[in-house]
Amino acid sequence: MMEKVAEIQDFDVIIIGAGPGGCSSALALKGLGLKVALIDKSEFPRDKVCGELMHRKAVETLNSIIPEFEQEFKKFPKTLVLKHTNVHFKGKVLAFDWQNESYTCPRLYLDNFLLETVRQQTSTAIFTGHQPNQITRDEQGITVSIKNSNKVFKGKVLIGADGAHSIVAKQFADKTLDRKHYLGAVRAYYTNITDLKPDTSEVFFNTKFQLNYVWVFPVEGNKANVGFGMLSSDISEKKINLKETFYEYFKHSPELAERFKNAEPVSTLEGFGVPLGSSIGTTSGDRFMLIGDAASLSNPLSGTGIGNAVLSGKLAAEQIIKCFEANDFSANFMKQYDLVLKKAIVDNLMSSYRTQRLLGKMPFMLDVVFGLGRFEKIKKYIQSMV
Ligand SMILES: Cc1cc2nc3c(=O)[nH]c(=O)nc-3n(C[C@H](O)[C@H](O)[C@H](O)COP(=O)(O)OP(=O)(O)OC[C@H]3O[C@@H](n4cnc5c(N)ncnc54)[C@H](O)[C@@H]3O)c2cc1C
Repeated sequence: MMEKVAEIQDFDVIIIGAGPGGCSSALALKGLGLKVALIDKSEFPRDKVCGELMHRKAVETLNSIIPEFEQEFKKFPKTLVLKHTNVHFKGKVLAFDWQNESYTCPRLYLDNFLLETVRQQTSTAIFTGHQPNQITRDEQGITVSIKNSNKVFKGKVLIGADGAHSIVAKQFADKTLDRKHYLGAVRAYYTNITDLKPDTSEVFFNTKFQLNYVWVFPVEGNKANVGFGMLSSDISEKKINLKETFYEYFKHSPELAERFKNAEPVSTLEGFGVPLGSSIGTTSGDRFMLIGDAASLSNPLSGTGIGNAVLSGKLAAEQIIKCFEANDFSANFMKQYDLVLKKAIVDNLMSSYRTQRLLGKMPFMLDVVFGLGRFEKIKKYIQSMV
């Protein structure tokens, strides 16, 4: 049998993963004359299990890349504007008002919206439904071959934006799953929740479940994204069934039980992992950088990661500009990215981790936090942690 001849395409930059992180990098590389390939194994639109709350950081970073981003995003029919967060604990409510709006948008639509923005605003070559089966590195550059095809992509530098199960992180940064720094989480969509306010995200704590909480985030169409997450090490040590625990939580939380009496699930309960930024390993090396979940940049307190995926995507693009200017793609040169990442993201994640550990060891501190939460300064501090 004759071997298929490889169809080689040359690029300057290869991005693997077209989630919020990968799209942010592609947008930030716009107009620089670099040939960029954005490769994703899925066809879009595709879903991604997530709570779907977009903090300001994501929106502000995208605004800094494309000034009209927020204006367009607000007009998008699947976007919901959020102005408040209510945190529930032992029948008390701590209410936060956001000075600037945050948003929810189902990932099925958000990620497609971002990818379409890349398609319309940049000359990025987009390859969805393309799964890499081999990625190699040498002095000449990066080579990515695609499963079940004769396509081969070559580039000078690679961004690993391929999420929680990143093959780039596994292969180039020897990353393995560390259950102590990894959340298992589930979510489903519900409708008919009593007193669901479309501009208010809600979080419910219960002492039985220590620091873990159920979130209820309103999304478009009078629905809410409802979910629950727990440290993977706790799940395996205590042999917890996450899906059963999710439903049990409702029984132990009087507010939830009452409010969900007439609620109806409109999707199945689905699970996915969240690599937490409480342990960051290698984030760059010869000819590559990791961003977003591939770099484990989700917040250990809240589990949110879209903002850091988008910000790290922008920072990686800025490093790439420096690499091409200096014609240097070495691990030593890439260390600049690690330093910038530390200052912009990692230091903050470590503060959140310290707070998470303190609260985890001393759950009664939640009572204290709730008591002190009425003071504006403490509220602002809590807001900065998530
Ligand atoms: C249950 C749950 C709730 C969450 N809630 C929130 C929340 O409310 N707010 C928030 O900010 N964050 C939340 N997060 C975290 C958030 O989902 C992630 O931090 C965010 O999606 C990271 O973006 P990313 O671009 O790095 O990766 P992803 O969004 O995971 O995108 C990775 C992309 O890479 C592609 N890919 C994967 N493997 C390969 C491969 N081998 N080859 C090619 N392509 C590949 C995928 O198809 C995907 O398109 C939650 C996570 C979970 C699991």
